[in-house]
Amino acid sequence: MSINYNDTKLAGVHARSLSDKEGFWGEQAQHIDWFEQPKQVLDFSNPPFARWYVGGSTNLCHNAVDRHLKDRANQKALVYISTETNEEKVYSYAELHQEVQRMAAIMQSLGVKRGDRVLVYMPMIAEAIFAILACARIGAIHSVVFGGFAAPSLAARIDDATPVLMISSDAGMRNGKEVPYKHLVDEACSLAAKPPKHVLLVNRGLAKMDLVAGRDVDYAQARAQNMNAQVPCEKMQATDPSYILYTSGTTGKPKGVQRDTGGYAVALAASMKHIYDCKPGEVFFCTSDIGWVVGHSYIIYGPLINGSTTIVYEGLPLRPDPAIWWSIVERYQVSTMFSSPTAARVLKKQDPAYMTQHNTKCLRRLFLAGEPLDEPTAKWISEALGGARIIDNYWQTETGWPILSAQHGLEVTETKFGSPSFPVYGYDIRLVHESTFEEVGANEKGMLCAMPPLPPGCLQTVWGDDERFVKTYFSAVPGQHLYSTFDYATRDDDGYYFILGRTDDVINVAGHRLGTREIEEAIQAHKNVAEVAVVGVADTLKGQMPMAFAVLKDASVAATPEGAKAEEKAIMATVDHEIGAIARPSRVHFVTLLPKTRSGKLLRRAMQALAEGRDPGDMTTLEDPSALEQIKKALGA
Ligand code: ATP
Ligand code: MG
Repeated sequence: MSINYNDTKLAGVHARSLSDKEGFWGEQAQHIDWFEQPKQVLDFSNPPFARWYVGGSTNLCHNAVDRHLKDRANQKALVYISTETNEEKVYSYAELHQEVQRMAAIMQSLGVKRGDRVLVYMPMIAEAIFAILACARIGAIHSVVFGGFAAPSLAARIDDATPVLMISSDAGMRNGKEVPYKHLVDEACSLAAKPPKHVLLVNRGLAKMDLVAGRDVDYAQARAQNMNAQVPCEKMQATDPSYILYTSGTTGKPKGVQRDTGGYAVALAASMKHIYDCKPGEVFFCTSDIGWVVGHSYIIYGPLINGSTTIVYEGLPLRPDPAIWWSIVERYQVSTMFSSPTAARVLKKQDPAYMTQHNTKCLRRLFLAGEPLDEPTAKWISEALGGARIIDNYWQTETGWPILSAQHGLEVTETKFGSPSFPVYGYDIRLVHESTFEEVGANEKGMLCAMPPLPPGCLQTVWGDDERFVKTYFSAVPGQHLYSTFDYATRDDDGYYFILGRTDDVINVAGHRLGTREIEEAIQAHKNVAEVAVVGVADTLKGQMPMAFAVLKDASVAATPEGAKAEEKAIMATVDHEIGAIARPSRVHFVTLLPKTRSGKLLRRAMQALAEGRDPGDMTTLEDPSALEQIKKALGA
């Protein structure tokens, strides 16, 4: 049975969200607490800049913590689980309230004021969440930098945000090993043009830490002096910036996204209801990291604003064994989970028996975002979990919450594997042809764009650079302020969207334009392929040729040159069969690891550069350098 989007209730909600923005977003604003109600829902007098809830005052920390004290003081707010240090700690809303006030008092004692920036460079520990919420509480702008970024990347982010305080820790842990942070903090401070005046350090007792006199402050000591601290929430204007966050750097140098306060709070509150369909009191488990937008929105702010319980997990999906996530789901009765296709593909390489060791009946839905979710992987994980509902949702650091998704809190609609379903209310989606800029028809490829104003919660600007904001995001279509996502998509006859990949990931083979994702999806259909990346490589004859780098489930098959040749042939035949010979890769190289950003995204531009003998460019967000070495080796470079 197939449904058509036009016949759904969602289509009506979506239409109203655009035709009656004031009415729609005025209603959504009632899901949060305001100190003063907004005077104007939207000010769009200076396009493409949108100002939401002008004149309203509120506070993210008040909405995430204080307002729940009345009804849920003793409910679990935050469950911290580390399979790295074998710790597990539960904080009720009352306890979270107390810890955040302690942190806020420490920050104030170190001179942090409203509007100041605070850089948070921390592992996945509860104190990181206290720090972020404390910033929101006193009106400081947080800039979270993913833990473990090297010193030069950290220094660059220090210089961009010029924080007065940095909050860090002695070390993170990964796969049972310490990842020391403190020497990176010191190095970054000496590299930065304007280092922070103070560094607050949480000592986990994992790595040696020498404190710099006059600059460094020990958190435990400072906390002990602030046990009974009471720090009220600052009344922030809805349009005041709440944070800066950098994009993943998949396509180049990361951009510093600036987010507002009121619009973000409303957008998240609404998304928890309408998209994630998670109720107050239920348990939300998001496996991302606080260093990424998914962590900001759905480890911290979204679930807490909603009065749910959030799980903060430090560890890998495979340790102590590949059943760890499902054991957490069972133990804490998780109703809603959020992870990434990359993680799903990691699990796909394991024995499927791990997926069913635990009773995961409580898990209503598993949301996946961040990269294209290919149909074979989506099907696999859905079946492996005994039919749990898998929901693909598409969004960006820039938007802060989904652009395309099913919205089961509004209406349960049938999902299609490989599709993030429909436009989310508030986004005026336009699929435009890349050269004529006309809107494309059903099943035609277009650039996924949105007509501004972007809805509440989306980026206000690029931090410190309004010009870059307009130039980067609103200049893809000449003479028009149309927001571009830089992703290609199609819409099928039923109104379902499919993301085809990034606009710079298209391969032009003898005049035929092929999406890397299409070819990757075809290769995924080969049963021994766990993961694959396809890039376009310059070819004198054809313009470009696809080249594939694949990770096999059973690598022994390709252990000998003959075996590898046979497997390569089999994969090429799969592509011939799935798409046609035109898409057949010139080569399929086998590796055990693909180069990815630290947020788990394939760095196709790096593979492409190496395959063409060029310099791979900005590699500061690369997760594991040995992956690039493997690519070089495979290429014989
Ligand atoms: P940069 O902008 O610095 O190059 P990035 O785009 O990877 O890095 P993010 O904001 O973390 O930074 O990622 C957003 C991008 O991730 C989207 O533009 C899209 O390309 C991809 N993406 C996210 N969710 C999905 C999804 N469900 N399906 C397909 N692609 C997705
Ligand atoms: Mg991007």
